[in-house]
Amino acid sequence: TASVPGVQTPVPTGLFVGGQWQASSSGATFDVLDPADGSVLAQVADGTSEDVLAAVGAAHAALPGFAATAPRKRSEMLRRAFEILVERGEEFALLMSRENGKALPDARAELTYAAEFFRWFAEEAVRIDGDYRVAPAGGTRTVVTHQPVGVCLLVTPWNFPAAMLTRKLGPAIAAGCTSVVKPAEDTPLTALLLAQVLTEAGVPDGVVNVIPTMNAKDVVATAMDDDRVRKISFTGSTEVGKILLRQAADKVMVSSMELGGNAPFVVCDDADLDAAVDGAMLAKMRNGGEACTAANRFYVQSGVASAFAEKLAARMGAMTVGRGSDDGVTLGPLVNEETVAKVDRIVTDTVGAGARVVTGGTRPEGAGFFYPPTVLVDVPTDAAAMTEETFGPVAPIATFDTDEQVLTLANATPYGLVAYVYTGDLARGLRLAEALETGMVGINRGVVSDPAAPFGGVKQSGLGREGGHEGIGEYLTTKYVSFPL
Ligand code: ADP
Repeated sequence: TASVPGVQTPVPTGLFVGGQWQASSSGATFDVLDPADGSVLAQVADGTSEDVLAAVGAAHAALPGFAATAPRKRSEMLRRAFEILVERGEEFALLMSRENGKALPDARAELTYAAEFFRWFAEEAVRIDGDYRVAPAGGTRTVVTHQPVGVCLLVTPWNFPAAMLTRKLGPAIAAGCTSVVKPAEDTPLTALLLAQVLTEAGVPDGVVNVIPTMNAKDVVATAMDDDRVRKISFTGSTEVGKILLRQAADKVMVSSMELGGNAPFVVCDDADLDAAVDGAMLAKMRNGGEACTAANRFYVQSGVASAFAEKLAARMGAMTVGRGSDDGVTLGPLVNEETVAKVDRIVTDTVGAGARVVTGGTRPEGAGFFYPPTVLVDVPTDAAAMTEETFGPVAPIATFDTDEQVLTLANATPYGLVAYVYTGDLARGLRLAEALETGMVGINRGVVSDPAAPFGGVKQSGLGREGGHEGIGEYLTTKYVSFPL
C-alpha cells in the first residue's frame, strides 16, 4: 500500500486477482506521478501477460457462481458500494486530484457521478427482463431471456479514473458478469481503491480483478486473445479503439467502444449570452478540458461572436491555476507531459495558422504539467484546434452566419460524440440537434452526462451505449427457448 497525502487510509498498490492483493509475477513496479510537480506519488505493481491470464482465470472461475447469484443480491452489492463511495467521497476526491491533477471541485463532481452509476445499476440489476411470445403460426412458444455475456475486459482512461470504471463495472456486476480491469497507467490508484470498496460491499472474490501495467499493449492483447474473455469495453482514444476492434474481430468478441470526440459548441445570436458563457465554462473547463465530451471548438453567430469571446475570456482568465488539491484552485495541471506538450503544439499551430490569442496561449515555466486557460479567436476552421481533440483548457472560436453553414462545419469531422447548442428558440435548437451527427446533444446545457441516459457516440466516436436502460444490455446476450405447446 501507499500513503497518499490527504488520503486517510492506505491505498492498495498491488495487483488484485481472485480477491488477493499480490505483486507482479516479474516483481516490477512502476511510478505514479503527481502531475502538479512530477514527483513520485506511489509505486504500483506492473502486471505482466502472465498476471493478466491469472486474472482471466480468476474471473472465469468466478463466473458460473456469480451469474447464478440472485439479482437482488447483486443489486445490494452495488447499492452498498454506492453508499461506501459516498461515505468515503472526500478520500476518493483527494486521491483522484493527486494522481490525475484535477481540481478538487472536479474530483468531487466526478466522485458523485461515479457513485451514481453504482446506484443506477443497482436499480437495473433487478429489472433484467424477458418475454413470452406466441409464434405467428401458433403451436410454438418462444421464451426470450437475457444472460450475462461472460468474462469482460474493461480498459479505462485516466481522465475520469473512477467514473469511467463504475460506468462499466456497475452494469457488468448488475448483469452477473465477472471482469478484468486494466486501468490507465497514469491513474491506477483510484481503480485499486475501488476494488477494495467493492470487496467491502460484498462482491465475491474473482468477480472484479485489476491489473495495472505499464505494458498495456501486450497485456491487453494477451487477454484479447484468450477465448475465456467474451467482451471488451474500452474508453480511450479512437486510435487504440481501432486496434482493439481488430483484435476483437479475431474472436468475434462483443465490443463496446467509447472513443474520441470533437464536440462543437454552437452559440446562436438569439441565445442568452450569459447562459451560453456559463454553459461554455462547463462544457470546456469541466475536468480542465480533459474530457471526450469537452467542447473542442466554438462556432458563434457573427453578431454575438466578439461579445461571447470577451465574456468567455474574462471567465477563463479569472480561473485559479495550481495544484488540484489546494484550496480555491479551479484548474489543476494536465495529467502528464505528453498531454501538455500536445496542447501546446495545437495552440502554436493554430496561432501559426492565423488565430489570435485573447487569453493564455503560453506554457508556463517550472515544474508540473500546467497549461493556462486559453481563448483563441479568428480561428480558421481547418486549424489544429478545430480538427484535433485538444483535451486541454483551450477554447478556439470561429464564427458562422447561417444554421446550414454551422451544421456543415459541425459535421465535418470523423467524430460524433456530443454537440452543444445555445439558442433562445427551442424549435431551432431541436432542428439543429436532429441534424447534428452525434450521439448526444445538449441544448442550452453545457453538460449532458447522466448515469440514467445512454451515453455514446456515432461515427468514429464509438459503438454501444453506457448508462441508461441501454447500459446493462451491453453486458447481456439474448437467448430464446422455443417449444411446442
Ligand atoms: P488517452 O489518449 O486517453 O491516454 P489511450 O487510448 O491511449 O487514451 O488510453 C486508454 C487506455 O488504453 C489506457 O488504459 C491505456 O493504457 C490503454 N492502451 C493504450 N494503448 C493500448 C494498446 N495498444 N492496446 C491496449 N490498450 C492500450
